[in-house]
Amino acid sequence: MKRKEADPVELADRIRKGERTALARGITLVESSRADHQAQAQALLAELLPDTGKAIRVGLSGAPGVGKSTFTEAFGTFLTARGHKVAVLAIDPSSARSGGSILGDKTRMEQLARDPNAFIRPSPAGRTLGGVARRTREAMLLVEAAGFDVVLIETVGVGQSETSVADMVDMFVLLLSPGGGDELQGIKRGIMELADLIVVNKADGDLIPAAKRAAMEYRGALHLMRPKNPYWTPDVKLASALKGEGLEEVWAAVEAHKAALEAGGEIERVRALQARAWMWTEIREGLFAALKANEEAAHLIPLLEAEVESGLTTPTTAARRLLRLVLGPESA
Ligand code: GDP
Repeated sequence: MKRKEADPVELADRIRKGERTALARGITLVESSRADHQAQAQALLAELLPDTGKAIRVGLSGAPGVGKSTFTEAFGTFLTARGHKVAVLAIDPSSARSGGSILGDKTRMEQLARDPNAFIRPSPAGRTLGGVARRTREAMLLVEAAGFDVVLIETVGVGQSETSVADMVDMFVLLLSPGGGDELQGIKRGIMELADLIVVNKADGDLIPAAKRAAMEYRGALHLMRPKNPYWTPDVKLASALKGEGLEEVWAAVEAHKAALEAGGEIERVRALQARAWMWTEIREGLFAALKANEEAAHLIPLLEAEVESGLTTPTTAARRLLRLVLGPESA
């Protein structure tokens, strides 16, 4: 049976009412690479845009094994028990290659997955990080329109995906283990600089002394860094996702961060900059996609690459020739 075409106005209405099947359908449209789905997704987003932006957007990152899933489950459950509606989205650009994602495993976050006030969506598949990030950004707008007031965007801390997440959230939380100094060596400085809050997880049992030491070291490291924002000084908290400890303190830090940024009118400013940067990402990706789809360009690219490599043509001349194919003869 052929599925009825989604009417964006009707689908938007159902999403606003918080209907989960409608929300799931909307996200499927956003994630689809079919041109007709993309058109429907954009119509849907246009319809819902006034209802977006009301959630606290929190990014959560950390190395594999640090306890992201356990923490998300515990923190999400803690928040829904306090009357929040929590959406968990993920960005994992490796999901296309591995066929699974960090949140794809259904045995994880069982409790939160059954919680009527939570919504969990694994990472969309995609060949490029930009594509995966865009779909997650749009899914975030949809869950906001559906009334979720906390959006957690999880990513595995192994590469550029942190920057993508930091570029779409209000607050970026970095989960670290009690490994301390040794672990610090392995973390790229750039990732520490993104953090508004560091949570040392696994602060339980025998690991408590190590966790406290690690927290001190991380605090020291944060002090040496240039603050990301004039209204907020990054902090370090201890937590045990396994025991459900420290969640209250983490949430208090999220709320304090929000209050501090709001007082400075900073949330609007950050979100405005993020939206503008996103537009430029779309322009770059759109140009790239158009170039890739252009037959003449496909033929010319290897020739021009060879000419540029051997110094017969300058990179600028070659680039302009290719851009003219996409933008027209007068363009470059
Ligand atoms: P992820 O790869 O970052 O999502 O990590 P997981 O949530 O899958 O956790 C990795 C391992 O660490 C699992 O065996 C968890 O049970 C364990 N773990 C997670 N949080 C804690 C914690 O707070 N304390 C302790 N002791 N172990 C934890």
